[in-house]
Amino acid sequence: MRYLSEYRDPKLARSLVRRIRSEATRRWTLMEVCGGQTHTIVRQGIHDVLGDSVEMIHGPGCPVCVTPLEQIDRALHVASRPDVIFTSFGDMLRVPGSACDLFQVRARGGDVRIVYSPLDALDLARQNPDREVVFFAVGFETTAPANAMAVWQAARLGVRNFSVLVSHVTVPPAMVALLEAADNRVQAFLAAGHVCTVMGWTEYEPLARRFRVPIIVTGFEPLDILEGIWMAVRQLEEGRHEVENQYVRSVRREGNVPAQDVVSRVFELVDRGWRGIGTIPASGLGLRPEFSDYDAELKFDLRHIEARESEDCMAGDVLRGRIKPMECPSFGIVCTPERPLGAPMVSSEGACAAYYSYGRFSAHEEGSAGTAAPRHHPSPDDTRQEPAPVAGGGTSRA
Ligand code: SF4
Repeated sequence: MRYLSEYRDPKLARSLVRRIRSEATRRWTLMEVCGGQTHTIVRQGIHDVLGDSVEMIHGPGCPVCVTPLEQIDRALHVASRPDVIFTSFGDMLRVPGSACDLFQVRARGGDVRIVYSPLDALDLARQNPDREVVFFAVGFETTAPANAMAVWQAARLGVRNFSVLVSHVTVPPAMVALLEAADNRVQAFLAAGHVCTVMGWTEYEPLARRFRVPIIVTGFEPLDILEGIWMAVRQLEEGRHEVENQYVRSVRREGNVPAQDVVSRVFELVDRGWRGIGTIPASGLGLRPEFSDYDAELKFDLRHIEARESEDCMAGDVLRGRIKPMECPSFGIVCTPERPLGAPMVSSEGACAAYYSYGRFSAHEEGSAGTAAPRHHPSPDDTRQEPAPVAGGGTSRA
């Protein structure tokens, strides 16, 4: 496939692996921020072929996974109302709330619809003036511009029966929280290329200086990941700590300025809870007061809804890179994609789903409590295509 196969070339992959292994004089610990990168690493077995040169730990960049449980419960509550058409990208529908998920709400008669864009939800509102249309605005900086544009358009057109349930998070504050943690092990980051396509990388430069940590803006294909790892290892070996851009085919230093402009007109920075992690100050986007008429939390009085996480789900430790998914005692036993306990097992970018789907584990190799059978053991030579995308797009790679 043109434009993809060249980023999956086995010969080039082997050459990059050789470089990483020969240039690393010790074992470095790298974190890939994005769940899409985690899936590439696990599916292609990249962490296995790095040997003693690099340990990859998986970061919190799965927007579905970090959406707080109470926000899922608020979505379930409003989606159950008979006067509401609840719209969302497809990957939110199977995320478990305290009692059920959005698919179950739909099975019980709720009008829950998958859309491919928040502007489709706005169109639905214009076509159904006697109903309230709510869009579940979840994601990192990647999806924020389209969601901001939908609210902006609704205000411009005077559409009053449209609102958004916002759970936007931003990457840099999460990186700071990880680096400030007493048990931090991250020595370099692979930053999420699609987030940087929107935001550029200027906001990462002070982080690289302050924490003396290399940050490589990296894409999502196997060669992107391997080149990003090699660039990080080279910096670590040379004692440098800079922001470098591996994803040159998509990212510019200043990012997409018009997209940033619409985001800052509609949203402002707010404290935001991260599922399994807790509240990180100024880590989320919330609607500015002038757009409060479009805030579903206010319109439907949802803020009183609180929730308690399952004590059996260790998603917080997985999302902070403290444990690998198979170290969770529930992995593959009481938590599977069919019966998930936590969002990382159902999201198309969740680390638990990656380990379960691609079988990059075994109880023997990893000392894991997990007993689920491995599904597939690919290698760097395996240039299989991406799995079919989740219907209705996703909150991150949409
Ligand atoms: S395996 Fe399941 S229960 Fe364990 S951390 Fe992942 S989602 Fe949570």
